[in-house]
Amino acid sequence: MISPLLPTYNRADIAFERGEGPYLYDEKGERYLDFGTGIAVSALGHAHPHLVSAIQSQAAKLWHTSNLYRISGQERLAKRLVDATFADTAFFANSGAEGVECAIKMARRYHYVTGAPERYRLITFEGAFHGRTLATIAAGGSAKYLEGFGPKVDGFDSVAYGDFDAVVRATGPQTAGILVEPIQGEVGIRVPPSGFLKRLREFCDARGLLLVFDEVQTGMGRTGRLFAYEELGFSPDIVAVGKGIGGGFPLGGCLATERASKGMTPATHGSTYGGNPLAMAAGNAVLDVMLAPGFLDQVRVRAGSMQQHLAMLQAEHPNVIAEIRGRGLLLGLKLNVPNAAFLARLRENRLLAVGATENVARLSPPLNIEERHIKEAMAALNDACASFETERKAV
Ligand code: PLP
Repeated sequence: MISPLLPTYNRADIAFERGEGPYLYDEKGERYLDFGTGIAVSALGHAHPHLVSAIQSQAAKLWHTSNLYRISGQERLAKRLVDATFADTAFFANSGAEGVECAIKMARRYHYVTGAPERYRLITFEGAFHGRTLATIAAGGSAKYLEGFGPKVDGFDSVAYGDFDAVVRATGPQTAGILVEPIQGEVGIRVPPSGFLKRLREFCDARGLLLVFDEVQTGMGRTGRLFAYEELGFSPDIVAVGKGIGGGFPLGGCLATERASKGMTPATHGSTYGGNPLAMAAGNAVLDVMLAPGFLDQVRVRAGSMQQHLAMLQAEHPNVIAEIRGRGLLLGLKLNVPNAAFLARLRENRLLAVGATENVARLSPPLNIEERHIKEAMAALNDACASFETERKAV
């Protein structure tokens, strides 16, 4: 008999009841160190006092009005994001996939209003993940996520991640732009070859294409900068955002230059809930913390420490950990043992991490962790590695 809850997830048999900072407590009161933060979502940990108070005071005032009216929190969040980034304008939705949808529509519409309506296709990359709507599974291109859902939404040409020549070959008169994650998250924290993203920027400029970054996972401080593009020395035309931007409250969106957003005139796009006052209170509270002087510096310090510790762990347990991947606090352990078993062992040690394809265990701790949390996580990781070593020797 089907469960009352549609069984689209294989869930671990733990239910969390409350959280505090980097810790989660289950129904039995057991404490777990959360280095998954959902899936790289709760960027400031759980029940952050500033976020709690922002949501509480907004909840007592006003939740929803609709985008038929001005929403002051939305205007404020947009202005702050514009001031802090390459963007001239922002749209708010409720999830990362909706942020990507907005980005796709915007790229198509730009060419439509600039006299090239035939340009609607985007170059995308193997291993990409952009969400679970019909358009975003087509953009992601994964057979696993497309299977059984009818004709794939047209307009995406997928090539190998990092293969610039393949991008050039796939570009034609119908190409509108390139949609790319600056680091591929779901496939196992894949960092592209150095210079690849810059070549995409130059190629887009030369061919009149729009460069769209999906920073749903890499954005909002995760790599040690507010957005990953900041490390690259250039900016994209459109950026999809999500996950960390709401600190756990459902919020996503899209940032863009004035030029790229040219086609998005009244009635071209919308969302009933997108940018509602409650979500905007969360987004603004997240920015209060992330834009405070020194916050991102501190993320980079922690990231450096974490990476150093992980490199040492890998050197000690090369039979268990094949490789450390990632940037900032978006890190992946490519394993020589099955990642599901490794993650289960970590859970037994009361550490939460998340799986990714390519047999990777993903670590995306809260950005405001302290050194003692890193030490605690390393002890759990070391213990898990040691237990696999012991089993290997026993065989
Ligand atoms: N884009 C990227 C890079 C992601 O990692 C994700 C989610 O994992 C999404 C888009 C989709 O976000 P959401 O699940 O909030 O729709």
